This record gives sequence, structure tokens and C-alpha cells, in this order.
Amino acid sequence: MDSARGWFQKLSSTKKDPMAGDGKPPSAEEASNITKQRVAAAKQYIEKHYKEQMKNLQERKERRVLLEQKLADADVSQEDQTNLLKFLEKKETEYMRLQRHKMGADDFELLTMIGKGAFGEVRICREKTTGQVYAMKKLKKSEMLRRGQVEHVKAERNLLAEVDSDCIVKLYYSFQDDDYLYLVMEYLPGGDMMTLLMRKDILTEDEARFYVAETVLAIESIHKHNYIHRDIKPDNLLLDRYGHLKLSDFGLCKPLDCSTLEEKDFSVGDSTNGGSKSESPTAPKRTQQEQLENWQKNRRMLVSLSPCLFYSGYTRLYCSRGPAEERLWNGM
Ligand code: ADP
Ligand code: MG
Repeated sequence: MDSARGWFQKLSSTKKDPMAGDGKPPSAEEASNITKQRVAAAKQYIEKHYKEQMKNLQERKERRVLLEQKLADADVSQEDQTNLLKFLEKKETEYMRLQRHKMGADDFELLTMIGKGAFGEVRICREKTTGQVYAMKKLKKSEMLRRGQVEHVKAERNLLAEVDSDCIVKLYYSFQDDDYLYLVMEYLPGGDMMTLLMRKDILTEDEARFYVAETVLAIESIHKHNYIHRDIKPDNLLLDRYGHLKLSDFGLCKPLDCSTLEEKDFSVGDSTNGGSKSESPTAPKRTQQEQLENWQKNRRMLVSLSPCLFYSGYTRLYCSRGPAEERLWNGM
């Protein structure tokens, strides 16, 4: 219930927001709309909170039943059975206590800095209680707001919360304080593909095939969830300790509403008939060189329209796990 209380505190602290713009009080209609939005948000939050609580309870019950069945099938004495069930209950209680614990920057010891940019920094860190090493990304809220990155950060967070794949960087914790948003991710010690390419200059065909295949799998894993990354490049492909590749940096990713895509959208760039289908049938056929130049011109135009230009700063990876983190986005 702590998290719900926190949420209500946040809600009341944002009540002055409507006045913040031009200093004028909102009209009656605006105020009513704002109240409606708040009510809807509160309802959604409470429903989600209790739904998750019920789900956790159910899962706990199922784990107990499963252990009871296994013990009944195995040749275990009554005393051992009781002890094992007690042990399970103890672990379950510890797990719930851990879940209630609100993580914060103080729970981590900060080590070497591994990345720095416009929004903040990425550091290797160690969790004080477990000694586990992670990569911590710290994003300055004011910078995100000033650069209009809130929607990007939300999309990123939704993606990471939704997609659980071995091909993308895992997020363990997220939390915030007054000035920063924090992301605690698995630390990938193999460096990025850009560094590898600079070091090796040319990859062998087998190596290239391996990395391209893993990149395709990573991209597919997010496409399956109807997101597009929009920032695929060697420095966003990181390598884990075994040399496997993981996709990171989802700050430019975009949820895609596939129902609005028409078939003709996919025809752009179709070269099977020697040109784009949007060309008139009477238009003279272009040479391969002309097609390439046209494609490059379009790419340049797309890049100049892309948010990358005003979003070239440091990291956008964001997500949250667990109901407590829901509040993360409310204050932004
Ligand atoms: P940017 O927006 O600056 O490209 P990134 O998310 O790509 O931000 O992170 C910046 C750099 O920090 C990366 O190039 C990489 O070297 C390092 N980095 C980021 N996340 C991790 C991670 N999980 N493990 C190891 N290094 C990381
Ligand atoms: Mg990057």
C-alpha cells in the first residue's frame, strides 16, 4: 500500500501544474478535464496494483502446491516435508520483503564511468548487498524535459518492460530521485561493435555472418512486439562476456500501429521491377546508378528529418520493472 500512498502524494504535488504555464488559472472546462484525467490515471493505477497483488498471491499458492506434489511423489519423510515447506514460506516472505524495498542510488557503489553524453552518464556499479555488478545509466530529468524527450523515454520504457529477450540488454531496476532517472542494466563487458570494427578493421565472413544473424534476431525480437528501433548502428550493438550480441539504446524506438499500415507502404524500395512502384508506368526506367543516387538522396532527407539531429546526446535507454516504478513517469 506504500506505493499507492506515494502515488497519491505525487498526484497532489502535481496539482499546481495547470497554473504553471502562463500563470492563469485553468478554465472550468480545463479543470474538469484535468480532474477526469487524474481520476482515470488513479483508477488505472489502483486496478493494476491490485491485479498484480492477486497474481503474485496466486503464483505463490501454485508454487506451494507444486512443492507439496513433488514431496508427496518423492520418498521424503514427514519431518523433512514440513521443514522444506517451512523453508519455502521463509523464502517467499524474504522475496516479498525484497520486492517492497525501494531501490535507490544509495544501494549501489559507483565504479568506472563507461559513457557520457548530454543527458547524463553510464557507470559500472556494484549492488552493496549482493556485490552484483551492473551498468547504471543516469538521466537528467531537466534535460529530458528541455529536449522534449519524455515520449521517447516512455516508449523505451514500455519496450523494455514488454520485451523479454536474450537479444536485448536486460534491465534490472529503475528508480528516480528529484533530479535523475536511473536505469540499472546488466553490464556487458565485451564493448560495442563499433570498437570491435575499429580494432579488427575487417571481420571474417564467418564473424560477419554471426553478428549479422544475431543483429537480425535482436531486431526481430522488438518487431514482434510492434516496435521499431530507428537507431541501429554499430555503437548500439553491445557484446556480452561470451561474445554474444545484444541490442541497446532504445531512445528512438517507436511503437508501430500495424493496423494502419497498408500494403503499398512496403513497396517502397522494391527493386524487382527495376524501380519503385510509385513511379508512373510510363516513366523511363532508371539505371542502377540513378536508383542508388535517388535512394541516397532520400536517405539523407530522412536523416535530416530524423529526431537524431536534436537527439544526438547520450543515452535514451529506459524502462521499469515492478509496480513501484510506475510512478517514475508521473512526475516528468
Ligand atoms: P548513447 O545515447 O550515448 O548512445 P548508450 O545507451 O548507447 O548511449 O550508452 C553509452 C555507452 O555506454 C555505450 O556506447 C556503451 O559503451 C556504454 N554502455 C551502455 N550500456 C551499457 C551496458 N549495459 N553495458 C556496458 N556498457 C554499456
Ligand atoms: Mg548509443
